[in-house]
Amino acid sequence: MIDLLSLTKIYKQSGKKALDGITLSLPESGLFLLSGPSGSGKTTLLNILGGMDLPSSGDFLFCGQKVDSKSIDQYRTNNVAFVFQSFNLIENYTVFENLKLAFSLAGRECEKKDVAEVLKEVNLPDDGELDEFLAKTPNHLSGGQRQRVAIARALIKRPKILLLDEPTSAIDRKNIDSLLSILK
Ligand code: ADP
Ligand code: MG
Repeated sequence: MIDLLSLTKIYKQSGKKALDGITLSLPESGLFLLSGPSGSGKTTLLNILGGMDLPSSGDFLFCGQKVDSKSIDQYRTNNVAFVFQSFNLIENYTVFENLKLAFSLAGRECEKKDVAEVLKEVNLPDDGELDEFLAKTPNHLSGGQRQRVAIARALIKRPKILLLDEPTSAIDRKNIDSLLSILK
């Protein structure tokens, strides 16, 4: 589904070569993990895969079609959801309002049962009542719960590609196994 051909990224401002001739193919389905030291170009590559940035040279093909400056917005809008390292939940919105907004942006109907369904996919709520959980603002959630709300929000779009940047850095050890099983 994804083919990268001799992909290179040089940041114009700094002249820094963040990616140097990457060639890689990813099939239609699967869970892929990218690891490397800080500064090795992981976020740069995710940004390109997510249609948020373009390579300096080389090709990024999605289903055989080149993603370029003309097609990048459409590619991103139709296919990708991103879970940012800092989750980017709206802090003064409740869990329900955060998810309701995502339904509305995806052009989907949103009743409480739809929100409950998508939360169930990420094993939420894991303590207390649904109503109580939906009424919480993000500052009343644990790191693991915030992350799962952010994943639920990304799933609402029913994306073909779900990208997570450093998904294990903000949660503790015991939540890593549960994260991986949710993603699988
Ligand atoms: P990682 O996510 O693996 O830590 P990054 O992709 O963030 O790595 O960064 C790769 C390299 O590109 C680093 O040297 C970083 O300083 C540089 N870099 C990243 N983003 C920018 C940017 N917007 N402008 C200039 N240089 C950048
Ligand atoms: Mg990074």
